Amino acid sequence: MTRPTIVAGNWKMHGNLGMAENLAEAIAAGASESKAKLIVCPPYPYLDAVVRALGDSDVHVGGQNLADQPDSGAFTGEVSGTMLRDIGCWHVIVGHSERRSLYGESNEQVATKFGLARDAGLVPILCVGETLEEREQGQMESVLKAQLEAVVRMHGVDALQDAIVAYEPVWAIGTGKTASPDQAQAAHAFLRQQVAAHNATIAGVLPILYGGSVKPGNAPELFAQPDVDGGLIGGASLKSEDFLAIAAAA
Ligand code: PEP
Repeated sequence: MTRPTIVAGNWKMHGNLGMAENLAEAIAAGASESKAKLIVCPPYPYLDAVVRALGDSDVHVGGQNLADQPDSGAFTGEVSGTMLRDIGCWHVIVGHSERRSLYGESNEQVATKFGLARDAGLVPILCVGETLEEREQGQMESVLKAQLEAVVRMHGVDALQDAIVAYEPVWAIGTGKTASPDQAQAAHAFLRQQVAAHNATIAGVLPILYGGSVKPGNAPELFAQPDVDGGLIGGASLKSEDFLAIAAAA
């Protein structure tokens, strides 16, 4: 079964307007060199400028988060999936480990956001991953299963049909420590098996990205794993040459 290869950049809370525009323009200019589908996720205030800077390139824009409430309402400081779609986003990250650990998002809240993203016409990028402590205690599989199953329980496995999963071991995010290709493959294969237990066809076409200190130097080996369908890139997505080199490896 063929799956799309995807490389997405999570810019987090970095940069300024000029940097966001320049980065988007440079990525748009180099995007045709990559066979992978490219997505960039800038901070909310720069989304519109980035959509414009990307022009008619094939690079898509995504949000980094969305409200756990639909459409619009009295939710100060929140941004809905409908609003993201309205300004030209096609994707949104849900359940990034920083949202889970720093802002207390539970598996259920992440699942709610996942459904709202789909309702708004966005493709959710569902982040899952274990902490170092959980890995050392042999809990990697149970943590991944709980994070994934929360979505399946709330929305059914069909909700994974137009979605992306990103395996991001928390101990590898922004730490310079990368999962070995074997560790990444084992986790990705486990996730795919979990989905296959519900629906083998959906499991076969579900893109599962790896995230955690991906760099131009380690991307080729990671992306060569059979169940690794590209990457979700943090730090290295802030330099166009690094992001494009990673994209070229996918
Ligand atoms: C991330 O935050 O999603 C991420 C993968 O970060 P980094 O590449 O910097 O580890």
